[in-house]
Amino acid sequence: MLKDKIQKLATTYKEDTIKLRRHLHAHPELSFQEKNTVAFVEENLRSMGIDKIDPKANTGLVALIEGKNPSKKVISLRADMDALPITEANDVPYKSTNPGVMHACGHDVHTSSLLGTARILNEIKDDFEGTIKLLFQPGEEKVPGGASMMIDDKALDNPSPSAIMGQHVMPLIPVGKVGFRKGMYMASADELYLTVKGKGGHGAMPESLVDPVLISAHILVALQQVVSRKADPKTPSVLSFGKVQADGATNVIPDEVTIEGTFRTLDEDWRKKAHEQMIRIAKGIAEGMGGSVDFEVRKGYPFLKNEPLLTERCIQAAKAYLGDENVVDLDIWMAAEDFSYYTQEIDGCFYRLGTRNDARGIVSGVHTPTFDIDEDALGLSTGLMAWLALEELQFR
Ligand SMILES: [Zn+2]
Ligand SMILES: [Zn+2]
Repeated sequence: MLKDKIQKLATTYKEDTIKLRRHLHAHPELSFQEKNTVAFVEENLRSMGIDKIDPKANTGLVALIEGKNPSKKVISLRADMDALPITEANDVPYKSTNPGVMHACGHDVHTSSLLGTARILNEIKDDFEGTIKLLFQPGEEKVPGGASMMIDDKALDNPSPSAIMGQHVMPLIPVGKVGFRKGMYMASADELYLTVKGKGGHGAMPESLVDPVLISAHILVALQQVVSRKADPKTPSVLSFGKVQADGATNVIPDEVTIEGTFRTLDEDWRKKAHEQMIRIAKGIAEGMGGSVDFEVRKGYPFLKNEPLLTERCIQAAKAYLGDENVVDLDIWMAAEDFSYYTQEIDGCFYRLGTRNDARGIVSGVHTPTFDIDEDALGLSTGLMAWLALEELQFR
């Protein structure tokens, strides 16, 4: 059976996949600077005999693995390759050798896993019909997101995949398990930058001033009504302000106050309306109080929706591969992920790979200096993704 064959290959190649992961982990590169990483990916693909490779988005690439009857159907698999500006605190043999840069979001795992998946699929390409299109993308961690650049660079064209799958490490889920969620899964995320302007001066003479600190206080409170009164209660929304700067003193009222925050939600129409309402409310308050406000919304990634039917098929396939008990349901996650750009174009399924091991103390969250994974995850991440892709190629 093909599933047994894939499982056997994933086990056979596990140590090699771990080696790839360790190399990538030791040599992390920041978003849009993944030059050596993408060269490493290309070199590995070519060594497997995969040579239909096209550079994309400066430091990304697409590669094709053609089975029999290659034009029958195309399925895409995606990995992101960038690291974060974090100094690694783990004392491991594969510790980052690039000071101040670390694979703290597991993109080394995604990249090495997809290389392992490619190796398996390439080896069994006489056993399936259709084409697998691999996407190795740059810059997931940084707006505008490598995914949007890959799409602009025609990564989803010629041939066009009917669906795309991507996986992400999840330190909340024990190693050996994977998680799925149908429908809305991750949030859009926009950055908010406000500059509230008044007229500063001596704190003892407020009557001759326009106090931007008081205006800011009103704005901060009033904007919460966008979430509590304007948002549909069935649509999750988050509005958080983490930075407020008024550079005055006990007796000095400053000329201006700067405020920075984030707005996240799971509905594109509402997202746009919320931006408009926040700007209108802030301006109304500032002007009503004699000041003004510059309100800039820097748009981040859109929300991520897992196509329900595709995701259900992936869940069933994962259960067949790993056993029912090793496939868990995920909750909505208000972080953002640029895989969402693909899901705005074609059907997508973004799932989570368990990497936690309490007994071994592997529990740190992503984006922390102590993040690491239980590498046993690399024995299933490769084969599972190959299996999901083949099940999807066979569908219909
Ligand atoms: Zn991240
Ligand atoms: Zn990530």
